Amino acid sequence: MITGTTKLLGVIGYPIAHSLSPVMHNAAIAHLGVDYVYLPFPIAPEHLSEAVVGLEAIGVQGFSVTIPHKQAIMSLLSEVSAIAQAIGAVNTVCRTEQGWFGTNTDVEGFLAPLREQSRDWSQTIAVVLGNGGAARAVVAGCAQLGCAKVQVVGRTPQKLQSFLTSWTNSPLTVNLSVHEWETLPELLPHAELVVNTTPIGMHSQAEESPLNLVEMQQLSSGIIVYDLIYTPRPTRFLQQAQSQGAIIIDGLEMLVQQGVVALQLWLQCPAPVEVMRRSLLDYLSRRK
Ligand code: NAP
Repeated sequence: MITGTTKLLGVIGYPIAHSLSPVMHNAAIAHLGVDYVYLPFPIAPEHLSEAVVGLEAIGVQGFSVTIPHKQAIMSLLSEVSAIAQAIGAVNTVCRTEQGWFGTNTDVEGFLAPLREQSRDWSQTIAVVLGNGGAARAVVAGCAQLGCAKVQVVGRTPQKLQSFLTSWTNSPLTVNLSVHEWETLPELLPHAELVVNTTPIGMHSQAEESPLNLVEMQQLSSGIIVYDLIYTPRPTRFLQQAQSQGAIIIDGLEMLVQQGVVALQLWLQCPAPVEVMRRSLLDYLSRRK
């Protein structure tokens, strides 16, 4: 029940209607029986700085940050964690006595399902498709795993170069290189982890895949193929990879686990992982 004592959490983005975070966090709040509510806040880019002041003024305890605010919010916070600085993006903000503290829980979300795999990551070559915001969390995650090489593949040479340059002074140790899409046939046969961070294959273009059939056939057996997309489940890319013998991981667990870490930061208690996962699965199956 929402009463006069209920504390506020939420998510800022623009648009925000598509966000699944309210479903997952309100299910967790109900299960825990704590006096909180998690709300969607649509905030246009030109209103971000006044909105952050407003969220503080109305007593919001913490909030998630999604597109297009993940970078822009950084300069509006009192403190930003080392991992968020390394990635260059904040997805979780907590109220502290000193002001807003921003961090990034996408890396832990990305890593959670990989940590269940027994691998010698120090021998692993990872190929990352795309060089946008999510790719930054994936590169940081691969660095934390200790991957031998991380090869980022993109379609826009200038963006690839600036992606590479942005890691030059990173506190994370990573053997990073960037490659154009045409070089995939040389990279894929050596890869043991391929991660799709592009939107290719999302619900609106569900028939598409970031790799064509010839490229798919270059994947080695036992490879892990990870798609950050969570609708549809599985994507065409993952279906094809599975039929080639790959271990497949979709983006739902990353979504759940980044939310788990965020909720634990806000509430300072263990988050009900299974409740959060189930709420998303139920919601997505009802929406089909
Ligand atoms: P973003 O910053 O817009 O980056 C998208 C990247 O994909 C860019 O490098 C873009 O290339 C590339 N790209 C887009 N369309 C392409 C195409 N047709 N061919 C080749 N490359 C293409 O987006 P993002 O925030 O990184 O998100 C990317 C995906 O990850 C989305 O599907 C999102 O839902 C998913 N995601 C999932 C989670 C999760 O928790 N599971 C978390 C974050 C993101 P250019 O730079 O050249 O335009």
